[in-house]
Parts: sequence; structure tokens; C-alpha cells
Amino acid sequence: MPDSLPRLVILGTGFGAFTLVKNLSDRFNITIISPRNHFLFTPLLPSTTVGTIEFRSIIEPIRYARRDLRFFHAAAESLDTGARSVRCRGVEAGDVFMVESMAVLAVGLSVKNRQPQKQDPGPL
Ligand SMILES: Cc1cc2nc3c(=O)[nH]c(=O)nc-3n(C[C@H](O)[C@H](O)[C@H](O)COP(=O)(O)OP(=O)(O)OC[C@H]3O[C@@H](n4cnc5c(N)ncnc54)[C@H](O)[C@@H]3O)c2cc1C
Repeated sequence: MPDSLPRLVILGTGFGAFTLVKNLSDRFNITIISPRNHFLFTPLLPSTTVGTIEFRSIIEPIRYARRDLRFFHAAAESLDTGARSVRCRGVEAGDVFMVESMAVLAVGLSVKNRQPQKQDPGPL
């Protein structure tokens, strides 16, 4: 990819990130940062646990979405919007520190379970 193109860093390789990468035009210099180097098709995940389908058939390497991207096998730890930089912890190597012009956060979410509180109204 020519260095003159606007740089775009995408955090994550899930549904949001994978769809974006597949649909972005080639007018961007794309870098992907994720602790997972593949997309996982979650709706079929339960079928893999009972052997209906193989796990490898529900994942797709991120490079299949687009071959000309840069990929960093790392987890983003902090984002400095002022400096337009992302600090990451490498999965295999050490820290990565990047400065890009635009960033897309597509890291999904994790559920925090908590004990019910006394004031919770309970089921309606
Ligand atoms: C078993 C199961 C079945 C489901 N079935 C359905 C269904 O039938 N229909 C439906 O609509 N939805 C379904 N869902 C929900 C669906 O998977 C989520 O809504 C969807 O994955 C959310 O997409 P996302 O891009 O926001 O996040 P995700 O797909 O979760 O992607 C997050 C990405 O961010 C990466 N990441 C995490 N932390 C960092 C970090 N610090 N730095 C960089 N990258 C990071 C992860 O590795 C991952 O690649 C299902 C979920 C599960 C678990």
C-alpha cells in the first residue's frame, strides 16, 4: 500500500471490524490490531462443541478479508486521542506503540456479572 494513503487503524477482528475491512475501498492504508488473527462466526460456535461442524470451518483469517493490510497480533491497552496513538501489548512480542491518523474501535464488549442488589426491582 502506498504511504501517501490516509492511515486507518482498526482495533479488533470481530463482526464489526471484519465487515468494515471487507467493505472499505482501497483508498486506505489499513492496520489491524487484535489479539485474535481471525474472524470467528459466533452463531455456529455452539455447533462446534457438539461436533456438528469443525471449529476450523467457522473461522476466517483476517488476511482473507484483505491481503494488503498490516496486522499486529496485540491487544490495545490505551488510546491517546490527542496524540492519535494507540498503546498495545503484543501477544507474542513486547509492547507496540503506533501513531495513526484515524482509528476505528471494534473490540466488542464483555459482560460484567454482578450480584443482585437489594434495591433491584427484580423481574417485572
Ligand atoms: C455463541 C454465540 C452466538 C451468537 N449468535 C448470534 C446470532 O445468531 N446473531 C447475532 O446477531 N449475534 C449473535 N451473537 C452475538 C455476536 O457474536 C456479537 O453481537 C458480535 O460478535 C459483536 O460484534 P463486535 O464486532 O462488536 O465484537 P466481536 O465480534 O466480539 O469482536 C471483538 C474483536 O475485538 C478483539 N479485541 C478484544 N479486545 C481487544 C483489544 N484490547 N485490542 C484489540 N482487539 C481486541 C477481539 O479479539 C475480537 O476480534 C452470538 C454470540 C455468541 C457468543
